[in-house]
Amino acid sequence: MTKIYPPLEIPETLAAGPGPGNTDPRVLERFAKTGVADHMQADVLRGMIEAKYMLRELWGTDNVYTYGVAGTGFTGLDCVLSMILPGDKVVAFPNGTFSGIDSLTIRMKAATKEELAENSLDPKASSVTIVETPHGQSVTGETVEKALAEHKPMWAFMAHWETGSGRINDLKGFSDACVKHGVMGIVDAVSSLGVDDFNIDDYPGVVAWASCPQKGVLSLPLTYAPVSFTDKAIEVVKDRGCRTYVNHPILNARHWGIMDGKDVEAPGYHQTHSCYAVAAFHEALRIILNYGKAAKAASYAYHERALREAVEAMGCDVTSDMTSLVVLNLPGKLAGREKELVQGARAKGFGIWPTLSEPVQVRIGILNQLSEEQITEIVSRFADAMLEMGADFDKAQVMAGLQSYYAKKAA
Ligand SMILES: *Cc1c(COP(=O)(O)O)cnc(C)c1O
Repeated sequence: MTKIYPPLEIPETLAAGPGPGNTDPRVLERFAKTGVADHMQADVLRGMIEAKYMLRELWGTDNVYTYGVAGTGFTGLDCVLSMILPGDKVVAFPNGTFSGIDSLTIRMKAATKEELAENSLDPKASSVTIVETPHGQSVTGETVEKALAEHKPMWAFMAHWETGSGRINDLKGFSDACVKHGVMGIVDAVSSLGVDDFNIDDYPGVVAWASCPQKGVLSLPLTYAPVSFTDKAIEVVKDRGCRTYVNHPILNARHWGIMDGKDVEAPGYHQTHSCYAVAAFHEALRIILNYGKAAKAASYAYHERALREAVEAMGCDVTSDMTSLVVLNLPGKLAGREKELVQGARAKGFGIWPTLSEPVQVRIGILNQLSEEQITEIVSRFADAMLEMGADFDKAQVMAGLQSYYAKKAA
C-alpha cells in the first residue's frame, strides 16, 4: 500500500552558506499572491519581457539573447555549454568544486561517441585540456594567456567567482587572452551576478555567461538561471546546431520575446513557464535594481570584512577573497574537525558548510545578510560553535571588536 506522509514542514534556518541565500519576503509574497494563469497569459508574458530587460541591466549588457533558463545554476550552465559539440577543442580552467563540475560537463559535451562510451560518467575527451589551479588560489590572466597561446582552442572556460574555494578569478585577463587568440570564452558567473558590480559588455572575449537564481539574484523559489549570449555565440549555434531542445540557446529565448535576433512583442511557446516563478523572479530583479548594483557590491564588501575580521579574531585563517563568503581554516587546535563543527552548527539550524572537495575548510556566507544585526548573529553563532569544540578565545572581546568595526564605519 502507498504510504501517505504528513505535510512537509521545513523549519526556518539561518542559511549562512555559499548559497542559497535567504529569500526576500517580497519575493515569497509575489510567489504566493500570484493568481494561477497559464504560460501564454498576457501578464505572465509581460512579466517575462520585463524581467528580460531588467536582466540586461543586471548583467550590464546589450546582448539581445539575455534571458532566464528554468532551473538552477547548472541548468543555465548546461544551456551555455551546449554550444560545445563533440570534438570541439576546449581549454577549461577549474580551481575548485564548481568549475570542476563545469569541466566535467565540458568533457561530456566535447567527448566523441567512443570517448563517452569508454567512461560515460567521467569521460576523458582528447579535445579538452584541463588546466588546474589549486584550491584556494585564483586563476590568473597569465595562466589563461599561456594555455590559449599553446593550445589555440575554439572555446575557453572559467568560473568568475569559484564558490568552492571562495576565490575571484581574473576575468579581464581571461577576456583579453580570448580576444588576443581568437577564442570564444564561456564564463560561470553563478556566484558573482547580483553580488559584484560588473558589466559583461566590458569583457568582449566572453561570448556566453551563466548564473543562477539562488545566490546573488536571491530568487530561490526555483526560478530562472540568467544567461547571456553575444550575437557571435548565437551565430555559431545557428550555423552548427546543438543537441538539446529545452536548453537550446536560440529556441529557449522565444518565450522571452526574442526571435531572429530581435525583441518581439509576441513571445512564442517554449515550455510551460510557471506564473509563480515568473512573478518571483521579476520581484527579485526589481529588488536588486532598486538597491543598485554598485551599492549592493559595496554593502557585500563592507559586511564581508566585518565577518572576516571577527573570525580572524577567533584565530581562524581566511583564504578566500569573494565578498559573499569567507572560506577559512580553523585554528591549530581544532584543525581536522571542520566537518564536525559544521555538522554541530547545522544540527542547531545554523546552516554553514564545509568545502565539498579537498582540502576541508569551513565556508560561511552572507547572501542577503547585509546588516549589522545579521552579521552579529552569524558571528555569535559561529563563536558558540567553536567554543563548544574547545576553542580558546574570549567571545565578549570578539563581539566588542565587531561592534567597534560597525561603530567606526558608521562614524
Ligand atoms: C552554486 C554554483 C553552481 C551550481 O548552481 P546550482 O544552483 O546548485 O545548480 C555552479 N557554479 C558556481 C560557481 C556556483 O557557485
